[in-house]
Amino acid sequence: MSDGTRFDWNAIEQKWSRTWKENHAFESDPDESRKKYFVTVAYPYPNSPQHIGHGRTYTVADAHARYMRMKGYNVLFPMGFHYTGTPILGMSRKVAAEDRDLLDTFRDIYKLPDDVVATFAEPVNIARYFHNEIKQGMKEMGYSIDWRREFTTIDRMYSKFISWQFRTLQKKGLIAQGSHPVGWCPSDQNPVSQHDTMGDVEPDFNEYTVIKFRADDLVYPAATLRPETLLGVTNMWLNPEVEYVQAEVDGEKWLVSTEAARKLEFLNRKVRIVKTVKGSQIIGNKVINPVNNTEIPVYPASFVDPDSGTGVVMSVPAHAPYDFQALEDLRSDKKTREDFGISNIVTPIKIIESEGHPGIPAEEAISKFGATDQSDEKLEKATNELYSHEFYKGKMMQNTGRFAGMSVADAKNEIKSVLTKGGHADTMYELVKRPVVCRCGAECVVKILSDQWFLNYGDKHWKDLAHECANSMDIVPQDIRQEFDYVIDWLRERACARKSGLGTKLPWDPDWIIESLSDSVIYMAYYVIAKYVNSKEMSDDNITDTFFDYILLGIGSTERVSDECKLSVSTVQQVRDEFLHFYPVDSRHSGRDLVPNHLTFFIFNHTAIFDKDHWPQQIVVNGSVLMEGKKMSKSLGNIIPLRAAIREYGADTIRLAIMVSAEILQDADFSFDTAKGLRAKLLGILEMAAKCKGVKQGSGAELEDRWLVSRLQRVVAETTSSMEKLRMREAIHHILYSLDQDLQWYMKRAAAKKRDNVLPTLKELVDTQLRMLSPFAPFTAEEAWEQMGNKQMIASAGWPVSVEERIDMVAEESEFVIASLLADLQNIVKVTKINPTKVAVYTSSSWKVRVYREILAKVMEGKTNFGEIMKLLIANPETAVLKNDPKLAQRMIDDILSAPLEARNRRLELKDFSEAAAITDAKTLLSDMTNNAEILVYSEEDSAKYDPKSKARSARPFKPAVYME
Ligand SMILES: [Zn+2]
Repeated sequence: MSDGTRFDWNAIEQKWSRTWKENHAFESDPDESRKKYFVTVAYPYPNSPQHIGHGRTYTVADAHARYMRMKGYNVLFPMGFHYTGTPILGMSRKVAAEDRDLLDTFRDIYKLPDDVVATFAEPVNIARYFHNEIKQGMKEMGYSIDWRREFTTIDRMYSKFISWQFRTLQKKGLIAQGSHPVGWCPSDQNPVSQHDTMGDVEPDFNEYTVIKFRADDLVYPAATLRPETLLGVTNMWLNPEVEYVQAEVDGEKWLVSTEAARKLEFLNRKVRIVKTVKGSQIIGNKVINPVNNTEIPVYPASFVDPDSGTGVVMSVPAHAPYDFQALEDLRSDKKTREDFGISNIVTPIKIIESEGHPGIPAEEAISKFGATDQSDEKLEKATNELYSHEFYKGKMMQNTGRFAGMSVADAKNEIKSVLTKGGHADTMYELVKRPVVCRCGAECVVKILSDQWFLNYGDKHWKDLAHECANSMDIVPQDIRQEFDYVIDWLRERACARKSGLGTKLPWDPDWIIESLSDSVIYMAYYVIAKYVNSKEMSDDNITDTFFDYILLGIGSTERVSDECKLSVSTVQQVRDEFLHFYPVDSRHSGRDLVPNHLTFFIFNHTAIFDKDHWPQQIVVNGSVLMEGKKMSKSLGNIIPLRAAIREYGADTIRLAIMVSAEILQDADFSFDTAKGLRAKLLGILEMAAKCKGVKQGSGAELEDRWLVSRLQRVVAETTSSMEKLRMREAIHHILYSLDQDLQWYMKRAAAKKRDNVLPTLKELVDTQLRMLSPFAPFTAEEAWEQMGNKQMIASAGWPVSVEERIDMVAEESEFVIASLLADLQNIVKVTKINPTKVAVYTSSSWKVRVYREILAKVMEGKTNFGEIMKLLIANPETAVLKNDPKLAQRMIDDILSAPLEARNRRLELKDFSEAAAITDAKTLLSDMTNNAEILVYSEEDSAKYDPKSKARSARPFKPAVYME
């Protein structure tokens, strides 16, 4: 067998792509005779060619679609292209500006010809080019897409659809204009979302409380997530090396880092810088804590990051590991203390008690994580853990006066509200993961945007609906469900429009363009409409909201839509019926990075717009793909374009290699060695199928035939169960590896008998294997299917069914006994180095079998206590004889406990199983494998047996005794 390197996989791929297309194999229309199944996957954003990593979600979704089709469903699996947004616009500007980095990427990584790149100064040309490139790749991968429904998000009809969506949301009061914080690119002057950032980072932000410590009229604003610790503040920290500014902020005099002054401007503060001052000049000053008017000193600390918060830090050494550590560092740094004239160092003030922290909590957390100084990264972990521990379990201590006895959560709100009312506190926003870098290269900030349009995901009633939808939905894998609940709770107002980019204008304010995570949430419904627009059965000229109201919500009437939109009554009715046929979405596939935005917005918007019976039924979340164990990145040069990989390895190999290494949510690891191994396996399957051509299928009567058929039923049942849970890695293992092992054993048994009539049985195996393989390796499966002599496509052949009656316990037990005996014999030969000429095998006497069955029944009832079992056995006259040999009973219990559960169950059910018959059947094989020795099979009870060393008496059921010479 060759490894498939020279085999022309691409020829097979082209042949079957053509055949599927000619036969309209994946075009789905309403069909009342079958149940429908609607699978969708997040449409691609065409600003680069697809690489192997992109292939995963689409391949898994396609395998899912193909599986459901094999199960007899009327599957709809469509695809669109998402042009909306600013990244393509940004790219075109860079091309116009002849950005070296981007042009090099186009030439060296994407291999684009110069004349193509020259057209890219026009953004739509970028989208169209990569759209086509991605589409070709999808076809080459064999995705079973109904291409009649393709669209882009800048199509005129799509824009009408999105306008309708937004007017509908606005009517429900879910869109409002106002001032809210957003992630912001200062260079593009636009809000940013995950699509707009390098590495697709979602620009989440935290709300900090800014506490105003004062020295005369100068405010030292400390930004904190823990205002409740204010009574434990012992000092302030400034970084002596950092440049601070004194600035007028909304009429007050503030001391902040230069970076913070800039951030405050984005947060709509009026900032005027008065003068610059080095941190070291302020160390040693005293400031007043607004909560209790105590005077505290300003100390130096290097951990203070000018880019985090205000660059001014309040120190709570009892509860903040960084603060505790910085005090320790200062204590042991005599020179610094002398330089700044610090004589007495403050001591921590504990103000929160919680279980597990009898001493100073920060000190305990530090020693737990083993941090050594304030630059130690372990402090971050210690901080997070202590924060969350005290938040949930902490109580304010007696020394906190009016806050004593409160939970940390209550105290946090109370202190914040008191201070804010008194003018001593403020808020500011800060990005959670810094730095967040825009695709244009600028570092993002948080901006309070005025008069911006927001989708109000903070609306309580809307959140309740979203929870209801998520709870009623299947989420694969289940472990990610709580992440959805978390995101639904956490989401707040979200900017839904931009000033630039491709997309649909906000219908009531055309200065704005609806952004990309807002026009991609209910488009699955649009696939129904796209088919009629593309086929020109419907003109988009006169389409108004009336059309969408009726088609998608059932509001109005066919006649009214027909009149108003100049469409025939029958077309309107057909579109409506088709929507009702295919909606809701049965399965939505997407990547894990889209849980905190797209997938959750998808839930929210469906609940706002559609009736409950049109809410989505399932979400499937995929992990990402590593390349040979490493993250794919431009700098590592390990980004393999999908189409190039297909040309080199063949589509099926790539499909399998992406899916075989991990289950849904885990990171898959693509490896070329695995790909090569898979390719060789596919070639083996093709060769096997060709051998079965013209053979009449039918299972033979030999033990191994019966066994193989029985095994097939089991593998079908197991694979089906894996697929129902979308455990595709497991399914592929059953199909390619378990079945292959079974085949090897069968061939070994048949070869030992010198059989030449195995093909009818093998044909059944290949037939079954190919059907199960077809969702994963559709080209190979079709080709092999045809090679076997089938006239119809495998895509319509149906998923195999496991037939209970064809499970043959005797055959399964027989082969199990034979395989164990063979392993034993080979082991004896290896250990004793005997080259046997004669091998005698002794099966146990019938009374031992009776005892075994009794013990087995007891064990399966859950009794494994030796004494208890012995008592029961001796009480029974049939097995009382065991009294003379208690060791035998113990050995049998051990035998049973070491047998696989499957074998135990089987043996309990098998009433008259003959080990001797099984072993006799395999005489030729046993002989072949033991130097052609003569194989003799006796019962222990056989008086004429050849037993020179009295081995027979040690025989036990399913553990025959062996003698060799
Ligand atoms: Zn930017």
